[in-house]
Amino acid sequence: MSKKRLIQAKWIVTMDDDNPILGNHGIVLNNNIIEAILSPKEIKKSNFEKKIVLKNHILMPGLINLHGHSAMTLFRGYADDLALMDWLSNHIWPLEGKFVGEKFVYDGSLLAMAEMILSGTTTINDMYFFHSGVAKAGIKMGMRTFVGCSILEFPTNYAQNAKGYIEKSLQEKAKFKGEPLVTFTLAPHAPYTVSDETFKEIVNISEQEDMLIHCHIHETETEIQQSIERYEMRPFDRLEKLGVLQANLIAAHMVFLNDDEIERTQKLGLSISHNPSSNMKLASGFAPVSTLIEKGVNVGLGTDGAASNNRLDMFSEMRLASLIAKGCSKNPTDLSAYETLKMATINGARALHIDDKVGSISVGKHADIIAVDTSKIENQPIYDPISHLVYTLGRENVSDVWINGQRVLKNRVLANVDIKELHKRAKSWQEKVIDYKG
Ligand SMILES: [Zn+2]
Repeated sequence: MSKKRLIQAKWIVTMDDDNPILGNHGIVLNNNIIEAILSPKEIKKSNFEKKIVLKNHILMPGLINLHGHSAMTLFRGYADDLALMDWLSNHIWPLEGKFVGEKFVYDGSLLAMAEMILSGTTTINDMYFFHSGVAKAGIKMGMRTFVGCSILEFPTNYAQNAKGYIEKSLQEKAKFKGEPLVTFTLAPHAPYTVSDETFKEIVNISEQEDMLIHCHIHETETEIQQSIERYEMRPFDRLEKLGVLQANLIAAHMVFLNDDEIERTQKLGLSISHNPSSNMKLASGFAPVSTLIEKGVNVGLGTDGAASNNRLDMFSEMRLASLIAKGCSKNPTDLSAYETLKMATINGARALHIDDKVGSISVGKHADIIAVDTSKIENQPIYDPISHLVYTLGRENVSDVWINGQRVLKNRVLANVDIKELHKRAKSWQEKVIDYKG
């Protein structure tokens, strides 16, 4: 029996530059693939047994969260209003030492993915420990999951040293081979926690295993000063020398880049995840996003972890990214709504090397699609659906989500997880953390 379905909506924002907005068109799904996009006339002539008509909705590609630490949802709001190093060293790392294990990571990732799907996110580029926990949560939730294998020089609950992290990463990767929605990446934590030797090893493995690299880079000014003291060069120069800065790298943050580094970023072909909420909350600074985009650098958008954001909400990241860019440059034409939507969709797909599969609503691509309800009074009137998606609508308006053709959110009800059960899991960790805090 054919698994063909038609989803018709008031607007389709395709993220395909040739035809960005389609009115009253329909998307034909054949299993997990977008088989056709039909005009209203073609729909009238057609006869689909399964047809969903969304009269007040915008259909668009699923949002791609290019940088996150899913399991950290369990530390949401635990330590706020602190500088990055104080926050990490005195609050987050001790807490992780006490609690992080496979069950913690699984439960925290489930919670994160529930939140992300409810917010219209269909792909997460994650970085954490106990990778089986992240991968299993992704499979259960039906989420497109990039599992970043964290690598550091110092011991955690997961491994003792860089060699240990790398070995575990590759073992875990092998376990999930063939899972269509799970991809493993190498995630050296940051230039200040990873040695030259380890970075070289990571570059070698990434070539041999064809793996992407995901790393925090130039997040704070302190990181750059410390690198100059320790290595007599900026992290950018050091990583370029080590061969890390290349097309398979997703550099999270890149808040501090001089003009020369911006030029070199474009030439080297790496992608950047801009994480405006996290950068603002930790007072890291303003990433030069408009300049990067103007120079042709591929910049996507991420939430970072819920411990430093505190929501995994790509709608608020889009709005914030656009407003900050304009405020910084004092140029209101910077980071237009369309350019911002691209960051959250096709640019993220390009960074993850899956732009042939997702990131736009195009025939032949995989069906990662979200429906956004525009009918609420607070969102009236509507002149331009692209403007609305970035400046007006919020995650609460996401009604339906399809990932790889599966409807994982139906009328704001999650298909693959019992919400009551998820509440219980979150509460049980909350009680443990409160006991520990004393
Ligand atoms: Zn991060």
